[in-house]
Amino acid sequence: MLQDQEAHALQMERTFIAIKPDGVQRGLISEIIERFERKGFKLVAIKLVVPSKAFAQKHYYDLKDRPFFNGLCNFLSSGPVLAMVWEGEGVITYGRKLIGATDPQKSEPGTIRGDLAIVVGRNIIHGSDGPETAKNEINLWFKPDELTNYTSNQEKWTYGVN
Ligand code: UDP
Ligand code: MG
Repeated sequence: MLQDQEAHALQMERTFIAIKPDGVQRGLISEIIERFERKGFKLVAIKLVVPSKAFAQKHYYDLKDRPFFNGLCNFLSSGPVLAMVWEGEGVITYGRKLIGATDPQKSEPGTIRGDLAIVVGRNIIHGSDGPETAKNEINLWFKPDELTNYTSNQEKWTYGVN
């Protein structure tokens, strides 16, 4: 058992998570951060920003042909967004599980959208959907010197390694 733990090499990855203007305005920042923090994921970057519409269009570029694209970009640029980078093993995929399905009507109870949102156009949070998107979104929202590198005091207890 101990040997297994010692052999376990950390496979750290990073994901981009944003609390959208509705989540900020509804006072859900601490509730959302707490869920990622309690899971054991590590916060490596955070800032409150009002993105321009052009910036929102870049962020959601993949959805440019969808009918809701314009409204979505207007909404994302309508007020402060809490932009974050979270780090941990499996954080991209598991972060999406914590968030829940895109449509809050289909999100399971216990997920962020399941517990805290009702309609798809106001689903309070964004999370990268894969490794490539995560890399691109982190680079879009943060400069390299805004990303911290540190060892969390909790890591040896969260992962069972020294
Ligand atoms: N969205 C919408 N109507 C839709 C589908 C999506 O308003 O029918 C919005 C919703 O806010 C969603 C965002 O567009 O979070 C991005 O859509 P995506 O499919 O990437 O969902 P996500 O990755 O956020 O779960
Ligand atoms: Mg998406």
